[in-house]
Amino acid sequence: MESQIHKIHQQLVNKEITCTRLVQDRLNLLKENTYNTVNSLLDQQALKLANKVDAKIAKGETIGLLEGIPFGIKDVYMVQGTLTTASSDILKNYKSPYTATAIQKLLDAGAIPLVKENCDSFGHGSSSENTIFGAVKNAVNSNLVGGGSSGGSAVNVAKDYTVFSIGGDTGGSIRQPAGYNNVYGFKPTYGRVSRFGLIAYASSTDCVGPIAKSTEDIRIVLNAISGKDEKDQTTFHSDAISKERSLKTIAIKTVGYFKNFVENDALDHQIKTDFLAYLEKIKKTGVEVKELEFFESDTLVSTYYTLAMAETASNLSRLDGTNYGERLEAENLKDTYAITRSENFSEESKRRIVGGNQLLSQGFSDEIYLKGLNIRDQISNNFEKDFKEVDIILSPVTPATPPKIGDSLKDPLTMYLSDAYTVGFSLGELPTLTVPKGTSTGLQISAAKKNDELVLQFANFLNDLI
Ligand code: GLN
Repeated sequence: MESQIHKIHQQLVNKEITCTRLVQDRLNLLKENTYNTVNSLLDQQALKLANKVDAKIAKGETIGLLEGIPFGIKDVYMVQGTLTTASSDILKNYKSPYTATAIQKLLDAGAIPLVKENCDSFGHGSSSENTIFGAVKNAVNSNLVGGGSSGGSAVNVAKDYTVFSIGGDTGGSIRQPAGYNNVYGFKPTYGRVSRFGLIAYASSTDCVGPIAKSTEDIRIVLNAISGKDEKDQTTFHSDAISKERSLKTIAIKTVGYFKNFVENDALDHQIKTDFLAYLEKIKKTGVEVKELEFFESDTLVSTYYTLAMAETASNLSRLDGTNYGERLEAENLKDTYAITRSENFSEESKRRIVGGNQLLSQGFSDEIYLKGLNIRDQISNNFEKDFKEVDIILSPVTPATPPKIGDSLKDPLTMYLSDAYTVGFSLGELPTLTVPKGTSTGLQISAAKKNDELVLQFANFLNDLI
Protein backbone atom coordinates (compact mmCIF):
# COMPACT_ATOMS: atom_id res chain seq x y z
CA MET A 1 0.00 0.00 0.00
CA GLU A 2 1.09 3.58 -0.66
CA SER A 3 2.26 5.80 2.16
CA GLN A 4 -0.68 7.36 3.99
CA ILE A 5 1.60 9.95 5.57
CA HIS A 6 2.87 11.28 2.21
CA LYS A 7 -0.65 11.23 0.79
CA ILE A 8 -2.21 13.19 3.65
CA HIS A 9 0.76 15.57 3.77
CA GLN A 10 0.19 16.43 0.10
CA GLN A 11 -3.56 16.88 0.66
CA LEU A 12 -2.84 19.30 3.52
CA VAL A 13 -0.22 21.24 1.57
CA ASN A 14 -2.46 21.43 -1.53
CA LYS A 15 -5.33 22.60 0.70
CA GLU A 16 -7.53 19.72 -0.47
CA ILE A 17 -8.44 19.12 3.17
CA THR A 18 -8.02 21.08 6.37
CA CYS A 19 -6.25 19.52 9.30
CA THR A 20 -9.26 20.31 11.49
CA ARG A 21 -11.57 18.33 9.17
CA LEU A 22 -9.07 15.47 9.01
CA VAL A 23 -8.77 15.28 12.78
CA GLN A 24 -12.50 15.74 13.43
CA ASP A 25 -13.42 12.97 10.96
CA ARG A 26 -11.05 10.50 12.57
CA LEU A 27 -12.20 11.47 16.07
CA ASN A 28 -15.79 10.81 14.98
CA LEU A 29 -14.82 7.40 13.61
CA LEU A 30 -13.03 6.56 16.85
CA LYS A 31 -15.93 7.74 18.98
CA GLU A 32 -18.52 5.73 17.06
CA ASN A 33 -16.44 2.58 16.61
CA THR A 34 -17.71 -0.72 17.98
CA TYR A 35 -14.34 -2.53 18.08
CA ASN A 36 -13.49 -1.37 21.65
CA THR A 37 -10.25 0.28 20.52
CA VAL A 38 -10.58 3.47 22.57
CA ASN A 39 -9.68 3.96 26.23
CA SER A 40 -9.81 7.75 26.06
CA LEU A 41 -10.02 10.35 23.32
CA LEU A 42 -7.66 13.32 23.30
CA ASP A 43 -10.16 15.38 21.30
CA GLN A 44 -9.72 18.85 22.76
CA GLN A 45 -5.96 18.90 22.51
CA ALA A 46 -6.08 17.28 19.05
CA LEU A 47 -8.42 19.93 17.66
CA LYS A 48 -6.30 22.72 19.14
CA LEU A 49 -3.20 21.30 17.47
CA ALA A 50 -5.07 20.86 14.17
CA ASN A 51 -6.11 24.49 14.29
CA LYS A 52 -2.49 25.55 14.62
CA VAL A 53 -1.49 23.47 11.60
CA ASP A 54 -4.29 25.04 9.56
CA ALA A 55 -3.17 28.51 10.59
CA LYS A 56 0.37 27.75 9.46
CA ILE A 57 -0.80 26.46 6.10
CA ALA A 58 -3.05 29.49 5.64
CA LYS A 59 -0.06 31.79 6.23
CA GLY A 60 1.86 29.91 3.53
CA GLU A 61 4.39 28.46 6.00
CA THR A 62 5.91 25.07 5.20
CA ILE A 63 4.89 22.11 7.31
CA GLY A 64 6.91 19.03 8.15
CA LEU A 65 5.99 15.59 6.85
CA LEU A 66 4.46 14.46 10.15
CA GLU A 67 2.85 17.79 10.93
CA GLY A 68 -0.91 17.37 11.30
CA ILE A 69 -0.82 13.59 10.91
CA PRO A 70 -3.27 11.95 13.36
CA PHE A 71 -1.98 9.00 15.34
CA GLY A 72 -2.89 6.68 18.19
CA ILE A 73 -1.04 5.70 21.36
CA LYS A 74 -1.28 2.39 23.17
CA ASP A 75 -2.54 3.22 26.66
CA VAL A 76 0.77 2.39 28.33
CA TYR A 77 2.57 5.60 27.33
CA MET A 78 2.64 8.77 29.38
CA VAL A 79 1.24 11.85 27.71
CA GLN A 80 1.28 14.68 30.21
CA GLY A 81 -2.16 15.48 31.62
CA THR A 82 -3.90 12.50 30.01
CA LEU A 83 -5.11 9.32 31.66
CA THR A 84 -2.65 6.44 31.30
CA THR A 85 -4.50 3.38 32.51
CA ALA A 86 -2.60 0.39 31.08
CA SER A 87 -6.20 -0.88 30.64
CA SER A 88 -6.21 -1.70 34.36
CA ASP A 89 -8.37 -0.98 37.39
CA ILE A 90 -5.37 -0.06 39.48
CA LEU A 91 -4.44 2.85 37.16
CA LYS A 92 -7.89 3.70 35.85
CA ASN A 93 -7.66 7.25 37.25
CA TYR A 94 -3.91 7.75 36.82
CA LYS A 95 -2.92 10.98 35.06
CA SER A 96 0.48 11.13 33.39
CA PRO A 97 2.76 13.68 35.05
CA TYR A 98 5.09 13.83 32.02
CA THR A 99 5.33 12.68 28.40
CA ALA A 100 7.15 9.60 27.10
CA THR A 101 10.23 10.39 24.99
CA ALA A 102 8.95 8.63 21.85
CA ILE A 103 5.64 10.47 22.05
CA GLN A 104 7.36 13.79 22.74
CA LYS A 105 9.44 13.33 19.60
CA LEU A 106 6.26 12.84 17.56
CA LEU A 107 4.68 15.90 19.18
CA ASP A 108 7.82 17.88 18.35
CA ALA A 109 7.47 16.74 14.73
CA GLY A 110 3.88 18.06 14.75
CA ALA A 111 1.99 14.76 14.67
CA ILE A 112 -1.38 14.88 16.46
CA PRO A 113 -2.32 12.24 19.06
CA LEU A 114 -6.02 11.39 18.97
CA VAL A 115 -6.49 8.48 21.30
CA LYS A 116 -5.12 6.30 24.07
CA GLU A 117 -5.72 2.80 22.77
CA ASN A 118 -7.10 -0.34 24.36
CA CYS A 119 -4.66 -3.19 25.01
CA ASP A 120 -4.05 -6.08 27.35
CA SER A 121 -3.53 -4.77 30.84
CA PHE A 122 0.19 -3.93 31.34
CA GLY A 123 0.88 -5.74 28.04
CA HIS A 124 -0.07 -9.06 29.66
CA GLY A 125 -1.74 -11.02 26.91
CA SER A 126 -2.01 -11.94 23.26
CA SER A 127 -5.64 -11.08 22.55
CA SER A 128 -6.52 -7.68 24.08
CA GLU A 129 -9.18 -9.33 26.21
CA ASN A 130 -7.31 -8.74 29.47
CA THR A 131 -8.66 -5.19 29.77
CA ILE A 132 -11.26 -3.26 31.74
CA PHE A 133 -12.48 -1.60 28.52
CA GLY A 134 -13.94 -4.68 26.79
CA ALA A 135 -12.29 -7.10 24.37
CA VAL A 136 -10.85 -5.51 21.22
CA LYS A 137 -12.51 -6.98 18.13
CA ASN A 138 -10.60 -8.05 15.05
CA ALA A 139 -10.72 -5.57 12.15
CA VAL A 140 -11.34 -8.32 9.59
CA ASN A 141 -13.82 -10.50 11.52
CA SER A 142 -15.33 -8.98 14.63
CA ASN A 143 -16.07 -12.38 16.22
CA LEU A 144 -12.33 -12.91 16.54
CA VAL A 145 -9.84 -11.24 18.86
CA GLY A 146 -7.91 -8.16 17.78
CA GLY A 147 -4.69 -9.76 18.97
CA GLY A 148 -2.46 -8.37 21.64
CA SER A 149 -1.34 -6.82 23.55
CA SER A 150 -1.39 -3.78 21.20
CA GLY A 151 -4.78 -4.85 19.77
CA GLY A 152 -6.51 -1.46 19.85
CA SER A 153 -3.56 0.11 18.03
CA ALA A 154 -3.52 -2.47 15.22
CA VAL A 155 -7.29 -2.33 14.73
CA ASN A 156 -7.30 1.49 14.64
CA VAL A 157 -4.70 1.46 11.88
CA ALA A 158 -6.44 -1.34 9.97
CA LYS A 159 -9.77 0.55 10.06
CA ASP A 160 -8.11 3.91 9.17
CA TYR A 161 -9.16 5.47 12.45
CA THR A 162 -5.52 6.48 12.94
CA VAL A 163 -2.83 6.93 10.27
CA PHE A 164 -0.34 5.13 12.45
CA SER A 165 -0.22 4.01 16.06
CA ILE A 166 2.54 3.55 18.59
CA GLY A 167 2.39 0.09 20.09
CA GLY A 168 4.61 -1.69 22.59
CA ASP A 169 6.25 -5.06 22.01
CA THR A 170 7.73 -7.16 24.81
CA GLY A 171 7.24 -10.60 23.29
CA GLY A 172 5.24 -9.95 20.12
CA SER A 173 2.63 -7.36 21.04
CA ILE A 174 3.18 -5.19 17.98
CA ARG A 175 3.91 -7.97 15.48
CA GLN A 176 1.11 -10.38 16.38
CA PRO A 177 -1.82 -7.92 16.29
CA ALA A 178 -0.35 -6.45 13.10
CA GLY A 179 -0.45 -9.96 11.64
CA TYR A 180 -4.00 -10.60 12.89
CA ASN A 181 -5.30 -7.35 11.33
CA ASN A 182 -3.27 -7.27 8.09
CA VAL A 183 -1.09 -4.24 8.75
CA TYR A 184 2.63 -3.61 9.26
CA GLY A 185 4.06 -3.64 12.77
CA PHE A 186 7.70 -3.08 13.68
CA LYS A 187 9.64 -4.01 16.79
CA PRO A 188 12.94 -2.12 16.40
CA THR A 189 16.25 -3.35 17.82
CA TYR A 190 16.03 -3.17 21.61
CA GLY A 191 17.38 0.25 22.64
CA ARG A 192 16.84 2.04 19.32
CA VAL A 193 13.79 3.81 20.77
CA SER A 194 13.67 5.15 24.31
CA ARG A 195 11.39 3.37 26.79
CA PHE A 196 11.21 6.44 29.03
CA GLY A 197 7.55 7.06 29.83
CA LEU A 198 6.40 3.57 28.88
CA ILE A 199 4.82 1.67 31.78
CA ALA A 200 7.34 -1.15 32.11
CA TYR A 201 6.30 -4.75 31.58
CA ALA A 202 9.59 -6.65 31.13
CA SER A 203 12.24 -3.95 30.87
CA SER A 204 14.85 -6.16 29.21
CA THR A 205 12.66 -6.83 26.16
CA ASP A 206 10.19 -3.89 26.12
CA CYS A 207 10.35 -2.12 22.75
CA VAL A 208 8.50 0.91 21.37
CA GLY A 209 7.46 0.74 17.73
CA PRO A 210 5.04 1.80 15.00
CA ILE A 211 2.04 0.08 13.41
CA ALA A 212 1.11 1.44 9.98
CA LYS A 213 -0.17 0.56 6.53
CA SER A 214 3.08 0.72 4.55
CA THR A 215 6.80 0.14 4.95
CA GLU A 216 7.36 3.81 4.09
CA ASP A 217 5.16 4.97 6.98
CA ILE A 218 6.96 2.58 9.31
CA ARG A 219 10.26 4.11 8.15
CA ILE A 220 9.08 7.70 8.66
CA VAL A 221 7.77 7.07 12.17
CA LEU A 222 10.76 4.93 13.15
CA ASN A 223 13.13 7.75 12.20
CA ALA A 224 11.08 10.22 14.21
CA ILE A 225 11.06 8.21 17.44
CA SER A 226 14.58 6.69 17.41
CA GLY A 227 17.61 8.04 19.22
CA LYS A 228 19.77 8.05 22.28
CA ASP A 229 18.01 9.32 25.38
CA GLU A 230 19.77 10.13 28.63
CA LYS A 231 16.61 9.03 30.45
CA ASP A 232 16.98 5.45 29.16
CA GLN A 233 20.50 4.11 29.56
CA THR A 234 19.87 1.21 27.19
CA THR A 235 19.33 3.51 24.20
CA PHE A 236 21.90 4.03 21.46
CA HIS A 237 22.40 6.52 18.65
CA SER A 238 21.14 5.43 15.24
CA ASP A 239 21.27 7.18 11.89
CA ALA A 240 17.98 7.96 10.16
CA ILE A 241 17.13 5.52 7.38
CA SER A 242 16.64 7.44 4.15
CA LYS A 243 13.91 6.49 1.69
CA GLU A 244 16.56 5.82 -0.97
CA ARG A 245 18.46 3.46 1.29
CA SER A 246 15.31 1.63 2.36
CA LEU A 247 14.63 0.91 -1.30
CA LYS A 248 18.10 -0.56 -1.92
CA THR A 249 17.20 -4.20 -1.98
CA ILE A 250 20.35 -5.61 -3.53
CA ALA A 251 22.02 -6.21 -0.16
CA ILE A 252 19.98 -9.36 0.47
CA LYS A 253 21.56 -12.55 -0.78
CA THR A 254 20.54 -15.19 1.73
CA VAL A 255 17.36 -15.78 3.70
CA GLY A 256 17.12 -18.31 6.50
CA TYR A 257 14.13 -19.96 8.14
CA PHE A 258 13.81 -22.21 11.16
CA LYS A 259 13.11 -25.78 10.20
CA ASN A 260 11.52 -26.59 13.58
CA PHE A 261 9.11 -23.62 13.29
CA VAL A 262 7.79 -25.14 10.08
CA GLU A 263 7.71 -28.70 11.38
CA ASN A 264 5.93 -27.71 14.60
CA ASP A 265 2.73 -29.77 15.06
CA ALA A 266 0.92 -26.69 16.37
CA LEU A 267 1.39 -24.88 13.04
CA ASP A 268 -1.84 -24.39 11.11
CA HIS A 269 -1.75 -26.41 7.89
CA GLN A 270 -2.64 -23.50 5.61
CA ILE A 271 -0.12 -21.15 7.22
CA LYS A 272 2.56 -23.81 6.75
CA THR A 273 1.66 -24.41 3.07
CA ASP A 274 1.55 -20.69 2.34
CA PHE A 275 4.83 -20.04 4.13
CA LEU A 276 6.67 -22.78 2.22
CA ALA A 277 5.17 -21.58 -1.08
CA TYR A 278 6.38 -18.07 -0.31
CA LEU A 279 9.92 -19.34 0.30
CA GLU A 280 9.80 -20.93 -3.16
CA LYS A 281 8.77 -17.61 -4.64
CA ILE A 282 11.74 -15.92 -2.97
CA LYS A 283 14.09 -18.63 -4.26
CA LYS A 284 12.94 -17.95 -7.81
CA THR A 285 14.33 -14.40 -7.57
CA GLY A 286 17.82 -15.82 -7.10
CA VAL A 287 17.99 -15.27 -3.34
CA GLU A 288 19.42 -18.29 -1.54
CA VAL A 289 17.08 -19.83 1.06
CA LYS A 290 18.72 -21.73 3.95
CA GLU A 291 17.25 -24.02 6.57
CA LEU A 292 18.38 -23.18 10.14
CA GLU A 293 18.22 -24.96 13.50
CA PHE A 294 16.66 -23.20 16.47
CA PHE A 295 15.38 -23.84 19.98
CA GLU A 296 12.07 -25.66 20.33
CA SER A 297 8.97 -23.51 20.78
CA ASP A 298 8.40 -24.84 24.30
CA THR A 299 11.88 -23.74 25.34
CA LEU A 300 11.42 -20.28 23.79
CA VAL A 301 8.02 -19.75 25.37
CA SER A 302 9.06 -20.97 28.83
CA THR A 303 12.28 -18.93 28.80
CA TYR A 304 10.41 -15.82 27.72
CA TYR A 305 7.63 -16.22 30.29
CA THR A 306 10.12 -16.99 33.07
CA LEU A 307 11.99 -13.74 32.47
CA ALA A 308 8.91 -11.67 31.61
CA MET A 309 7.08 -12.78 34.77
CA ALA A 310 10.12 -12.13 36.96
CA GLU A 311 10.52 -8.65 35.52
CA THR A 312 6.85 -7.73 35.63
CA ALA A 313 6.57 -8.87 39.27
CA SER A 314 9.41 -6.46 40.11
CA ASN A 315 8.15 -3.61 37.94
CA LEU A 316 4.59 -3.76 39.22
CA SER A 317 5.56 -3.94 42.90
CA ARG A 318 5.35 -0.13 43.01
CA LEU A 319 1.62 -0.30 42.24
CA ASP A 320 0.56 -0.75 45.84
CA GLY A 321 -1.96 2.04 46.36
CA THR A 322 0.65 4.09 48.21
CA ASN A 323 3.28 4.87 45.63
CA TYR A 324 0.94 4.48 42.67
CA GLY A 325 -2.57 3.31 41.94
CA GLU A 326 -6.12 3.19 43.31
CA ARG A 327 -5.89 2.54 47.05
CA LEU A 328 -8.39 0.33 48.83
CA GLU A 329 -8.24 0.96 52.57
CA ALA A 330 -8.18 -1.92 55.04
CA GLU A 331 -7.61 -2.19 58.78
CA ASN A 332 -3.85 -2.01 58.62
CA LEU A 333 -1.14 -1.20 56.09
CA LYS A 334 -0.37 -4.80 55.21
CA ASP A 335 -4.01 -5.57 54.48
CA THR A 336 -4.33 -2.32 52.54
CA TYR A 337 -1.54 -3.45 50.22
CA ALA A 338 -3.05 -6.92 49.92
CA ILE A 339 -6.58 -5.77 49.17
CA THR A 340 -5.46 -3.00 46.82
CA ARG A 341 -3.42 -5.42 44.74
CA SER A 342 -5.84 -8.36 44.93
CA GLU A 343 -8.85 -6.33 43.85
CA ASN A 344 -7.21 -4.05 41.30
CA PHE A 345 -5.07 -6.40 39.23
CA SER A 346 -6.68 -8.76 36.69
CA GLU A 347 -6.50 -12.55 36.97
CA GLU A 348 -3.88 -12.68 34.22
CA SER A 349 -1.69 -9.99 35.79
CA LYS A 350 -1.93 -11.66 39.20
CA ARG A 351 -0.92 -14.99 37.67
CA ARG A 352 2.22 -13.31 36.38
CA ILE A 353 3.01 -11.38 39.55
CA VAL A 354 2.61 -14.46 41.75
CA GLY A 355 4.55 -16.63 39.28
CA GLY A 356 7.29 -14.02 38.94
CA ASN A 357 7.74 -13.58 42.69
CA GLN A 358 7.79 -17.32 43.17
CA LEU A 359 10.51 -17.92 40.64
CA LEU A 360 12.63 -15.08 42.03
CA SER A 361 12.39 -16.37 45.58
CA GLN A 362 15.14 -18.13 47.50
CA GLY A 363 15.39 -21.77 46.52
CA PHE A 364 13.84 -21.21 43.10
CA SER A 365 15.80 -18.38 41.53
CA ASP A 366 18.95 -20.43 40.76
CA GLU A 367 16.95 -23.29 39.33
CA ILE A 368 14.55 -21.21 37.28
CA TYR A 369 15.43 -17.54 36.85
CA LEU A 370 19.18 -17.95 36.38
CA LYS A 371 18.58 -20.88 34.07
CA GLY A 372 16.27 -18.64 32.03
CA LEU A 373 19.01 -16.02 31.74
CA ASN A 374 21.44 -18.69 30.66
CA ILE A 375 19.16 -19.97 27.91
CA ARG A 376 18.59 -16.41 26.78
CA ASP A 377 22.37 -16.07 26.27
CA GLN A 378 22.36 -19.27 24.24
CA ILE A 379 19.53 -17.92 22.09
CA SER A 380 21.50 -14.71 21.42
CA ASN A 381 24.61 -16.72 20.53
CA ASN A 382 22.55 -18.83 18.19
CA PHE A 383 21.31 -15.72 16.38
CA GLU A 384 24.86 -14.37 16.13
CA LYS A 385 25.92 -17.59 14.48
CA ASP A 386 22.91 -17.55 12.12
CA PHE A 387 23.55 -14.01 10.96
CA LYS A 388 27.03 -15.01 9.87
CA GLU A 389 25.30 -17.30 7.37
CA VAL A 390 22.13 -15.41 6.39
CA ASP A 391 21.12 -11.76 5.98
CA ILE A 392 17.49 -12.19 7.00
CA ILE A 393 15.45 -14.72 8.97
CA LEU A 394 11.90 -15.15 7.74
CA SER A 395 9.20 -16.81 9.83
CA PRO A 396 5.44 -17.03 10.24
CA VAL A 397 4.14 -14.55 12.83
CA THR A 398 1.78 -16.97 14.56
CA PRO A 399 1.19 -20.73 14.51
CA ALA A 400 -2.56 -20.21 14.06
CA THR A 401 -5.25 -17.79 12.95
CA PRO A 402 -6.85 -15.45 15.53
CA PRO A 403 -9.01 -17.25 18.12
CA LYS A 404 -12.64 -16.45 18.81
CA ILE A 405 -13.29 -13.85 21.50
CA GLY A 406 -13.46 -15.69 24.84
CA ASP A 407 -11.29 -18.71 23.96
CA SER A 408 -7.92 -17.37 25.18
CA LEU A 409 -9.34 -16.40 28.56
CA LYS A 410 -10.40 -20.01 29.13
CA ASP A 411 -6.99 -21.41 28.27
CA PRO A 412 -4.00 -19.23 29.23
CA LEU A 413 -1.44 -21.94 28.48
CA THR A 414 -2.57 -22.21 24.87
CA MET A 415 -2.40 -18.43 24.70
CA TYR A 416 1.22 -18.46 25.94
CA LEU A 417 2.12 -21.10 23.33
CA SER A 418 0.63 -18.92 20.60
CA ASP A 419 3.62 -16.60 21.13
CA ALA A 420 6.00 -19.34 19.97
CA TYR A 421 7.30 -17.49 16.89
CA THR A 422 7.58 -13.95 18.26
CA VAL A 423 9.25 -14.30 21.68
CA GLY A 424 12.62 -15.64 20.43
CA PHE A 425 13.33 -12.45 18.49
CA SER A 426 12.44 -10.42 21.59
CA LEU A 427 14.91 -12.38 23.73
CA GLY A 428 17.51 -11.80 20.99
CA GLU A 429 16.76 -8.03 20.93
CA LEU A 430 16.45 -8.20 17.15
CA PRO A 431 14.69 -5.80 14.78
CA THR A 432 11.62 -7.67 13.51
CA LEU A 433 8.83 -6.51 11.24
CA THR A 434 5.45 -8.07 10.50
CA VAL A 435 4.40 -7.63 6.87
CA PRO A 436 0.81 -8.49 5.90
CA LYS A 437 1.75 -10.97 3.20
CA GLY A 438 2.63 -14.58 2.58
CA THR A 439 0.33 -16.18 5.16
CA SER A 440 -3.07 -15.13 6.52
CA THR A 441 -1.36 -13.76 9.65
CA GLY A 442 1.61 -12.30 7.78
CA LEU A 443 5.34 -12.88 7.79
CA GLN A 444 8.07 -11.81 10.18
CA ILE A 445 11.33 -10.38 8.88
CA SER A 446 14.27 -10.31 11.31
CA ALA A 447 17.83 -9.11 10.88
CA ALA A 448 20.88 -8.90 13.12
CA LYS A 449 20.90 -6.41 16.00
CA LYS A 450 20.93 -2.74 14.88
CA ASN A 451 20.29 -3.78 11.28
CA ASP A 452 16.79 -2.29 11.20
CA GLU A 453 17.55 -0.83 7.78
CA LEU A 454 18.02 -4.30 6.27
CA VAL A 455 14.61 -5.35 7.60
CA LEU A 456 12.97 -2.45 5.76
CA GLN A 457 14.98 -3.20 2.63
CA PHE A 458 13.80 -6.79 2.63
CA ALA A 459 10.19 -5.68 3.22
CA ASN A 460 10.49 -3.42 0.18
CA PHE A 461 11.99 -6.30 -1.78
CA LEU A 462 8.88 -8.34 -0.89
CA ASN A 463 6.68 -5.43 -1.98
CA ASP A 464 8.16 -5.78 -5.46
CA LEU A 465 7.51 -9.52 -5.46
CA ILE A 466 4.23 -10.31 -7.16
N1 GLN B 1 1.79 -12.12 24.56
C1 GLN B 1 3.03 -11.88 25.20
C2 GLN B 1 2.83 -11.75 26.69
O1 GLN B 1 1.73 -11.80 27.10
C3 GLN B 1 3.67 -10.62 24.67
C4 GLN B 1 3.03 -9.40 25.18
C5 GLN B 1 3.77 -8.15 24.84
O2 GLN B 1 4.61 -8.14 23.93
N2 GLN B 1 3.49 -7.10 25.59
O3 GLN B 1 3.74 -11.60 27.42
